[in-house]
Amino acid sequence: MGGKAESRGSEFSPVPSSEPLGGLQTGDWRVIAGRSPLRYALVLLAAIVPAGAAALPFDFVYLRDIDPTILQDIRYAGSNNFVGRPLPGYEAAECVVTRDVARRLQAAQAELRPRGLSLKMLDCYRPVRAVAEMLAWSQDGVETAAGRRYTPRIAKQDLFRLGYIAVRSSHSTGAALDLTLVEIAADNSAAFDPAKDYADCTAPAALRAPEGGVDMGTGYDCSDVKAHTAAQNLTPEQRRWRNELVAVMARQGFVNYAKEWWHFSLPGAGATTYVFPIRPRR
Ligand SMILES: [Zn+2]
Repeated sequence: MGGKAESRGSEFSPVPSSEPLGGLQTGDWRVIAGRSPLRYALVLLAAIVPAGAAALPFDFVYLRDIDPTILQDIRYAGSNNFVGRPLPGYEAAECVVTRDVARRLQAAQAELRPRGLSLKMLDCYRPVRAVAEMLAWSQDGVETAAGRRYTPRIAKQDLFRLGYIAVRSSHSTGAALDLTLVEIAADNSAAFDPAKDYADCTAPAALRAPEGGVDMGTGYDCSDVKAHTAAQNLTPEQRRWRNELVAVMARQGFVNYAKEWWHFSLPGAGATTYVFPIRPRR
């Protein structure tokens, strides 16, 4: 779910997770500044920048800083997800990606907006600890109503074996994304109600939990063959939306994961996985 097995094989990081320290560090500044007055300016700057703010590793950005028109609903930062609670590491509902990925998303958005469409990000960079939490959830033996909505035909302990949950996720590299399309003029106002008994993720859109996007044939994070991008049992319109999303992302170099219509990654974008938490933007 949610990025789950999408990072098998070459997408797996071959190296241990590392805690990056950010682009500018005190040590760097000493090298840059030497004994010049610049050094003192940099020390002053360090004193006035709040701890934690802008603490993204080198080359990571908040997507909102690159393109604020791209919609975001970062599901693991809240309780509207298959685990049913915010995942560790999601301290803010912000899409964080590498700068290269952000620029490509901006280009895709520029193509879509004149047509009345928008991208909507559902997950971006995912801290390693959140991935571990998903794996633990899949093996805890506890079935919940919320969980079953996302896995209507699969026992959750089988999700790992079947490739729906992975030990490592390409999301943790910052170069993988979950997203959908939104018709800007449509009524996307229906809000998710955690107390409501929605039909499972493979049911008709009117019966599923609302997601504020076009009807892709299943909900996000649906562990089911109907969520496979090439699934046959879709309406022509659902098929058209999936093709549209795959095509606009492909034009920017992204590759879809065949078991999840919503998951895309940038091939060769690096294998290092990260553990830094997603903190509020300044
Ligand atoms: Zn994903």
